[in-house]
Amino acid sequence: AHLDRIAAVDGAVHAFLHVDAEGALATARAIDDRRAAGETLPALAGVPIAVKDVVATQGLPTTAGSKILQGWIPPYDATLVTRLKAAGMPILGKTNMDEFAMGSSTEHSAYGPTHNPWDLERIPGGSGGGSSAAVAAFEAPLAIGTDTGGSIRQPAAVTGTVGTKPTYGGVSRFGLIALASSLDQAGPCTRSVLDAALLHELIGGHDPMDSTSIDAPVPPVVEAARRGDVKGLRVGVITEVSGKGFQAGVRARFTESLDLLAELGAEIVEVSCPSFEKGLAAYYLILPSEASSNLAKFDAMRYGLRVGPEGVVAPSAEQVMAATRDAGFGDEVKRRIILGTYALSSGYYDAYYGQAQKVRTLIARDFAAAFEQVDVLVTPTAPTTAFKLGEKLDDPMAMYLNDVATIPANLAGVPGISIPNGLADEDGLPSGLQILAPATRDERLYQVGGALE
Ligand code: GLN
Repeated sequence: AHLDRIAAVDGAVHAFLHVDAEGALATARAIDDRRAAGETLPALAGVPIAVKDVVATQGLPTTAGSKILQGWIPPYDATLVTRLKAAGMPILGKTNMDEFAMGSSTEHSAYGPTHNPWDLERIPGGSGGGSSAAVAAFEAPLAIGTDTGGSIRQPAAVTGTVGTKPTYGGVSRFGLIALASSLDQAGPCTRSVLDAALLHELIGGHDPMDSTSIDAPVPPVVEAARRGDVKGLRVGVITEVSGKGFQAGVRARFTESLDLLAELGAEIVEVSCPSFEKGLAAYYLILPSEASSNLAKFDAMRYGLRVGPEGVVAPSAEQVMAATRDAGFGDEVKRRIILGTYALSSGYYDAYYGQAQKVRTLIARDFAAAFEQVDVLVTPTAPTTAFKLGEKLDDPMAMYLNDVATIPANLAGVPGISIPNGLADEDGLPSGLQILAPATRDERLYQVGGALE
């Protein structure tokens, strides 16, 4: 049914870069046979899933939305993919994304943008717009995303779906094409909070292949989603990210969510996180720094594309590398590599990268202080509903501003979820509520999300 749905609507939505109909059907049939034979199967056995194209899938093309990886077929699975397969989940295909997960609209994909199913002339968010759009358009019941600065939560908000960024280290990063290693986390994109919890539980947990993986059991997310009780829970509204300057309809839905939480017995408290205002600036130095280092491996020798410089009969390795990177990387990727190498260069290191790391520490301290007063924090997920395709494409700063509410969680490593909280009055488009919890307390996201669902 999902393959039929993809065939019917993906020409218009373009959520997928690659569909593996044969592989998905083979897995589904094998599960049917095992079920018919009376075998007890894992909870999600037979439930199809779409996977963001930044996650390595053995035998299936993996491009990270970039031309430089065109034609690369990973010889191994990411740990989370191994877990999906072990649970008997058919993989429908790979979803579209901003190139190397850099962006908030999926327009930076080298393979053309994804369209928001709510209005095809609008962006589905980014970088994981393909995963969220696939779920919103009923092309897949579940999808995998990755979130470095909001790429699971912001697409969830603007497509009216659910998206979780787990605690840093909660889900293995082994087999993810790294954007910024100290910020990246994979997580679920779903239509309900309980679905997200079920998927989170499956992909989460310790992995010896990832040195930053937390060696502890997955928090009790499914139980919390089912319980969904917020009586007596202290919910903090962050003064600095309380929706001031955000679209009126987004603000109105946020206020409504707070009223609903109070009605359900939560105590609403205002807390201040003064360093959050510098989060965006710190992030856009730390991310390019790490990205410029991570992307150095795309040297025209090891993966995908290789382009010889025009008119050179016997080019040097350096010339091939330069020509390949020139042809293979898009503008946004080049912009960030240049920014990152500049920020890391000797003489500037302390002034930029060093300063940004100090801000990062201050943000972590703000969270620690806030979580002494409250159990969870809430914000609107994104400043606006889905904007028009092309609207912010030529203005990198305007694009970066989309991440103002989501970035602090990545900088501090704490978990966050975005759940739909209604439609903005002025345009009838979905808006999202972000819930944040202390590190390793991911179950609280689901407790609150479950109560509101
Ligand atoms: N919009 C953010 C960026 O461009 C999000 C990145 C992400 O979470 N992958 O960096």
